[in-house]
Amino acid sequence: MTAILTERLSATLRDVPDFPSPGILFKDITPVLADPALMRDVITAMLAPLRGSGVTHVVGVESRGFLFGVPMALQLDVPFAPARKPGKLPWKTARESYDLEYRSDVLEMHTDAVGAGARVLVVDDVLATGGTAAATCRLIERLGGSVVGVSVLVELGFLHGRAKLPDRAVHAVVTF
Ligand code: AMP
Repeated sequence: MTAILTERLSATLRDVPDFPSPGILFKDITPVLADPALMRDVITAMLAPLRGSGVTHVVGVESRGFLFGVPMALQLDVPFAPARKPGKLPWKTARESYDLEYRSDVLEMHTDAVGAGARVLVVDDVLATGGTAAATCRLIERLGGSVVGVSVLVELGFLHGRAKLPDRAVHAVVTF
């Protein structure tokens, strides 16, 4: 990762305090989406550590994981599949629950999204506590796939998300 890209990202990502609730410093990625040259470099950087690792599928986590996962899948020329909040996917689904601070949440995938032998890259915009990414990995493995890595644009290192992903290859373009 070049220091220049890290600097451009730090200057472009927008910090929104107390969104969606008090005490949360939200990392708004929409200014990155609004800069095509930066977006191209971000996609290249998110893919760089995965080159040659035989990724056969990209799974993006609702919803901002879709925005990075789809262009990455196109670059790799492999299928993309969404992991979605409950009740959004129209066909047969498998689900995985995960705990948040005061409640639990659920992610679903179509049961035919990643079959046996699939080598899957999980993509999201932000890695915070790691619960979302860990649940996505478990869901992929229940469907028969194996997880090659987890790729995020931003890692909030002070939340120690990697602790929930101990045996996973986690790649972040920028860490705060
Ligand atoms: P976690 O499960 O705690 O790692 O949370 C990751 C998910 O929540 C990702 O899908 C992010 O889009 C979102 N998220 C969590 N914290 C933030 C934050 N501070 N800024 C932006 N998105 C966040």
